[in-house]
Amino acid sequence: MELIFEISKQGRKGYSLSACDVPEIEISARFRRKKIAALPEVSEPQVMRHFVNLSSMNHHVDKDFYPLGSCTMKYNPKINEETSRLDGFTDLHPLQPEKTTQGALRLMYELGDYLKKIVNLDAITLQPAAGAQGEFTAISMFKTHFNKQNEARQYILVPDSAHGTNPASVNFSGFKPITQPSNDKGLVDVSKLKELMNEEFAGLMLTNPNTLGLFEKEVKEITAIVHEKGGLVYLDGANLNPLLGITRPGDMGFDAVHFNLHKTFSTPHGGGGPGAGPVAVTKTLAPYLPVPIVSKRDSMYTLDYDLPDTIGKVQTFYGNFLVLVRAYTYLRMVGEQGLRKISKSAILNANYIIQLLKDDYYLPFDGFCMHEGVLSGKALRDRGVKTLDIAKRLLDFGLHAPTVYFPLIVSEALMIEPTDSESKETLDYFIDVMKQIRKDAEDHPDILKSAPHNTPVRRLDEVKAIKELKVKWTNQNSK
Ligand SMILES: *Cc1c(COP(=O)(O)O)cnc(C)c1O
Repeated sequence: MELIFEISKQGRKGYSLSACDVPEIEISARFRRKKIAALPEVSEPQVMRHFVNLSSMNHHVDKDFYPLGSCTMKYNPKINEETSRLDGFTDLHPLQPEKTTQGALRLMYELGDYLKKIVNLDAITLQPAAGAQGEFTAISMFKTHFNKQNEARQYILVPDSAHGTNPASVNFSGFKPITQPSNDKGLVDVSKLKELMNEEFAGLMLTNPNTLGLFEKEVKEITAIVHEKGGLVYLDGANLNPLLGITRPGDMGFDAVHFNLHKTFSTPHGGGGPGAGPVAVTKTLAPYLPVPIVSKRDSMYTLDYDLPDTIGKVQTFYGNFLVLVRAYTYLRMVGEQGLRKISKSAILNANYIIQLLKDDYYLPFDGFCMHEGVLSGKALRDRGVKTLDIAKRLLDFGLHAPTVYFPLIVSEALMIEPTDSESKETLDYFIDVMKQIRKDAEDHPDILKSAPHNTPVRRLDEVKAIKELKVKWTNQNSK
């Protein structure tokens, strides 16, 4: 496909206007460009076709199934886009007087309130722009908490199945991560935790259900062991999708949790942002929240900066406000009963796939999963087929691949998360394709090794893409 600059023709325009019937005014040279901007000159149909075609070259959730484990690539309802484009929201300035922004503040206050109820915790910030930043925010609050108590705790336990952002957040917040091993069921090894946990540890970061899609059944005992030694427990809330309206992290003993609004609450994921990763905490941690927080006094909503022990700000202004509008819309649309249904569907969809594929692929940890399940492609290794080849072959069928090679504790991992928004027909199609791929691995593995065949580009040099990052088009001719 040609670049829009390559289809540009001098003088071509995307509009046509009748002759000007008012006197033309010369704009002062002070406000004019010295040199004409090097923009493409194209007609409106050319622009339209260019971007429509471009939008179908890559995979996305509006195009087809996207079972990328742990990322919760659920459908983003278009009503969210309608509300987040309302003038009353888009025309706001973040420094406007509060009395003129009551609607926006109310929306943030109510969204915070819903989220707190969902997890049963006491206080919240909507400021972080992603899950990873939510983790950093909460663990920094842990740091301030222990500093206040004159306790020099240095370490935080992180399970070996955790997302890479967990140890990174621990490091960024001034602690050192120590690995908490899993047992042979893929769950936290509780007796090991008892041995490891002492007063040098600020606490534990846990993902529940964990990244194998398994619910930590001994979660109450786990949080109690950490609390007994004065530690705090953080829930990586990226896997909240199967818990909504069924159980609450606050009841399990967690002190802090982040939400990924772009996962659980249907706001768009996009190139690492803009997302939103609100953090809810207990009363004990509330004094350390980033400022401002949205409060309600009498019947007025207000931005509260009066937190002397705050960790400070983690984002400009109040976070990604229009993402919050989308999540609020979703919550108002589905309501309390709908939340429970979302989680039940997410769990049912995941188990349907895993149960129907477990004889074709290897299931490393048996039993039922929550909203996602992990299979292994290791049986295909004999045929010289790698899990990456399966991932690439799925693209030929118009399907995105599951997460591959994560969690790290499963070799040739295929982590499948269908989400709640898929129909049985879509799940059946995915299952059929996965069975076909399994068969092809036996009969003609070369089809898999050389996949994808039907995509605009074939196998990319992923190492080169990372090492020689090119994010900008430069016009060779315009220099
Ligand atoms: C997605 C994810 C994160 C990080 O969230 P971002 O919003 O991508 O920063 C952390 N932990 C787990 C388990 C995740 O799936």
